[in-house]
Amino acid sequence: MENKEYNDITLICKDCGKEFVWTSGEQAFYDEKGFTNPPARCPEDRAKRKAERNNRNDFKRNDSNSTFAYRTDK
Ligand SMILES: [Zn+2]
Repeated sequence: MENKEYNDITLICKDCGKEFVWTSGEQAFYDEKGFTNPPARCPEDRAKRKAERNNRNDFKRNDSNSTFAYRTDK
């Protein structure tokens, strides 16, 4: 199912004001998920926010050994 064509789009991050590329692959992913809005933040800031949230959760769940705040991005 490759009848749709995507081109990389350059967007401005809402948080840091830097330009970032919204890749065709990500656009396809968004489409698949039914998201209608493009991402407002660069991947870095998105990861940061996600990590912060995970950190908070991990804190409660296992406070003793949570060195790995990162999981895969899916
Ligand atoms: Zn950013």
